[in-house]
Amino acid sequence: MGPAAGSTTRRRITALAATGAVVAALAAGSPAAAGTPTAVPVKSPVAVGYGGAVSSVDANASAVGIDVLRHGGNAVDAAVATAAALGVTEPYSAGIGGGGYLVYYDARTHRISTIDGRETAPHTANSGLFLENGKPLPFDQAVTSGLSVGAPGTPATWQAALDRWGTRSLAQSLAPAERLAEQGFTVDKTFRQQTADNQARFADFPATAKLFLPGGKPPEVGSTFTNPDLGRTYRELARRGLGALYRGDIGADIVNTVRKPPVSPTATRRVRPGRLSAADLAAYAVRYRQPTHVTYRGRDVYGIAPSSSGGTTMGEALNILQRYDLSGMSPAQYLHHFIEASRIAFADRGRWVGDPAYVNVPTRGLTSQRFADSRACLIKPGAVLSSPLPPGDPRHPSSGCAHGGAPVPTTYEGQNTTNLTVADRWGDVVEYTLTIEQTGGSGIVVPGRGFLLNNELTDFDFTPANPAVPDPNLPGPGKRPRSSISPTIVLKDGRPDFAIGSPGGATIITTVLQVLLGHVDRGLPLVDAIAAPRASQRNAAATELEPGLYNSPLRGELEKIGHHFTLNPEIGAATGVQRLPDGRWIAAAETVRRGGGSAMVVHPAGTA
Ligand code: GLU
Repeated sequence: MGPAAGSTTRRRITALAATGAVVAALAAGSPAAAGTPTAVPVKSPVAVGYGGAVSSVDANASAVGIDVLRHGGNAVDAAVATAAALGVTEPYSAGIGGGGYLVYYDARTHRISTIDGRETAPHTANSGLFLENGKPLPFDQAVTSGLSVGAPGTPATWQAALDRWGTRSLAQSLAPAERLAEQGFTVDKTFRQQTADNQARFADFPATAKLFLPGGKPPEVGSTFTNPDLGRTYRELARRGLGALYRGDIGADIVNTVRKPPVSPTATRRVRPGRLSAADLAAYAVRYRQPTHVTYRGRDVYGIAPSSSGGTTMGEALNILQRYDLSGMSPAQYLHHFIEASRIAFADRGRWVGDPAYVNVPTRGLTSQRFADSRACLIKPGAVLSSPLPPGDPRHPSSGCAHGGAPVPTTYEGQNTTNLTVADRWGDVVEYTLTIEQTGGSGIVVPGRGFLLNNELTDFDFTPANPAVPDPNLPGPGKRPRSSISPTIVLKDGRPDFAIGSPGGATIITTVLQVLLGHVDRGLPLVDAIAAPRASQRNAAATELEPGLYNSPLRGELEKIGHHFTLNPEIGAATGVQRLPDGRWIAAAETVRRGGGSAMVVHPAGTA
């Protein structure tokens, strides 16, 4: 057993932040804010140069990755170190209590490989996991419960990536993050806001409140946030290896926390226990899967295969869209085609994609040009398809424009996570999205361990999306819930061209697709393609628009042909890298969303 609840938790909120990561950032040539009381690596959404690149949402985390590259580590080493640092600075989005998917391009073999590090349901789970008296639980009650916690895949993903392609040990890769947890990072507006948004439920769990609500309140902007418990947990993983989590005392603490959520005696919230067991943790294994692959305008686009729906849904949309000259279209027609292709691809996603160990997913059919051709003919330039649109059958693509059967509406998924992109001097690339599902996951910190547990199992459908149709995404024993995570690597002539990924639940797919189209078809530099205002259509009556589109004349133009829109204040938080013909890398991140991202290169050289 680990330390008793909170007994060793210390938290210091001071006005000083002199972290190892800041030093690393300075060593990496990143400018630091001069003359400010807290030395924080300055965030820049774009960087150009040699020697490798890192892009993430957080400057401390990017600096950790750059430091690894600078000292001879490769892209995989840097990705794991950056991810571990994000576990410290983005604890509400990612960490060892969650899961994710990683895509890797190996410059020596020119091969793309992927790791599916998705969380798994307990072996006792069945399709009624989220039913009570035959009725689905309210979503928010399922989120903040032990029921939604899957066996974490993130620690196993780190070890698997390092074993296969890395040059450093897990212990080496965890060391900078361990220091960051102990020395702290400077609280910014996003962290404070995310804490405030979660305040009511965090307050109901003493271990969570003790860590994230010092003095009963969200930490002040500019204060230093430390997490010594997480530092100790990382150290234990470093010393004893993964067994400490999948078979040892960290795992025992996870299981106890899930089975008996440590709720405050004064809380009125009902927090249902889960049934995750030591056997479930011991049985956890990552999956090495073939990437999805489509060609798009002379490029090879590689993504994540099921259990994520990212690669198949993006692949189908790209296959549909490459029949059109998107570069020559008006902005309204371009958006119209993007929206309609997304609608169609989501109609097929809902019907066909789930964990391939449990359902027969026609991955090849979904990503085939023939199937896309049979669906593309639904798109009309002057009219809008109605949703929910019925699916096609990728096993038997018709030559006509037929689709049939009952539609499968897209079910609700939360929208938060984090993403990172790394490239190294040898030309290797890692695109990696990791998550604990909602912002703040289940809201439950494992007492004394410094990390939140995921609520990933709420990505299952609680009831069939359409009772008339088999649902590939119902809960099952040991099953992986369907994800939308879409880390994507694009090659041209067999070499990396660019790589992108984003958080955002089911909007991940449309975000990564839109960034790709913006860059390839609309000619935007990667950082501008990331910054452009987003739309997201997921086989629903209304398409979500960010304010930049919602408040533009384009909305009226599209409404005239039948589109319906709702406002979504912010969609996704992408990161990416691009390889220039002269061998330099451009790292690109968000300019504004989530407070802006952090793009860095090892040796800055020139401008984008
Ligand atoms: N749970 C989401 C998925 O796997 C990712 C989390 C998010 O970005 O919301 O699709």
